Amino acid sequence: MQDHPLERAAWVEIDTKALRANMKEIRERVGYDRQVCAVVKADAYGHGAVEVAKLELQSGANRLAVATVDEGVKLRKAGIKAPILMLAEPPISAIPLLLEYDITPAVTTIDFALSLGEMADAAGRCHPFHLKVNTGMNRIGVLDSEVVEFLKAISFHRGLELQGTFTHFATADESETWDFKKQLDRFRKVIESMRQADFDPGIVHCANSACIVRYPETYFDMVRPGIILYGLHPSKVTYGAIDLQPAMSMQCEVTHVKTPARGEGVSYGLKYRSPSGVQVATLPIGYADGLRRSLSGWMMVLHEGQRLPQVGTICMDQCMIEVDPLRDVRKHIKPVHIGDRVTIVGCNGGDELTLDMMANAAGTINYELACAFGKRMHKVYI
Ligand SMILES: *Cc1c(COP(=O)(O)O)cnc(C)c1O
Repeated sequence: MQDHPLERAAWVEIDTKALRANMKEIRERVGYDRQVCAVVKADAYGHGAVEVAKLELQSGANRLAVATVDEGVKLRKAGIKAPILMLAEPPISAIPLLLEYDITPAVTTIDFALSLGEMADAAGRCHPFHLKVNTGMNRIGVLDSEVVEFLKAISFHRGLELQGTFTHFATADESETWDFKKQLDRFRKVIESMRQADFDPGIVHCANSACIVRYPETYFDMVRPGIILYGLHPSKVTYGAIDLQPAMSMQCEVTHVKTPARGEGVSYGLKYRSPSGVQVATLPIGYADGLRRSLSGWMMVLHEGQRLPQVGTICMDQCMIEVDPLRDVRKHIKPVHIGDRVTIVGCNGGDELTLDMMANAAGTINYELACAFGKRMHKVYI
């Protein structure tokens, strides 16, 4: 069993074997003649960007993608040399950092492109960028019908190098495929019109995780897996279509145990009242660790392979569980003790609680929970 961090008995465990296995699965799907750009934004979806980036580069990724300049700088400061693509255009005031730390931005506006070109040129350099095309998600990007015009407006600049062209899908993980096909069709036409106008699109890419699982026709020159790197499904649509191993689990140890008298309340608002003869145990993990407060009274945890209900309001840093020896008469519900291991997400004693189960109960998606769990808790790599 893995030791917990010295200072706190609640931690996130990251299974590095699972991360490697997921990358292998992706590589086998997309082949070796195209690039894999590992998406490690948001601290690698809560898994720890520096550790995950190093591991992904060792196990088959060619490049990394981040969402913000800070995230790119952090990787560079950790000594990572691989190309780093930023998936959005930062403010113009961030350009000196892009140059200093060699971060490749997505470009979506002429102003930004020309400023980048000016500053790169002033430094005696030519800076790469990837053109982001809006094919229908309508978040960011140059409208597909305006791409050629856009390139004509900036192509004179010797400080700029168009290294890649990409788009992003709004519905790659939905069962309905009409909108997806429309976006893919627009993307193909943009690339064709660029070539006809004598602009080399460079590395062409559009496939997120859902595309990698479902649509080989989207692979082009490079793919951009995020959630599947971490062993999670982009949505129910990909269940069963790819073999993934979840890398993140959440563990803690019981910090306190008592047997309240019948009718005693527990936690803020005393919303839970104790029946007689049950143990109420405290776990050192709360909503500041990503355990949604809205899950109060609606989630289970695992202790020695048995599911125990969380009870009362989830606090900022702690929550309580109930151990009722009479809850299931067919089983002997084992009593808990201070220091016992309790699993919030992951495997324990032959049973498993998944992030997807928790996301369903919380009315959100696994992406959001994984990001939140990585924030305050220590990460232990096994
Ligand atoms: C986050 C993101 C990805 C990765 O998405 P997943 O669904 O996690 O695979 C790929 N491309 C862009 C532009 C993104 O913002």
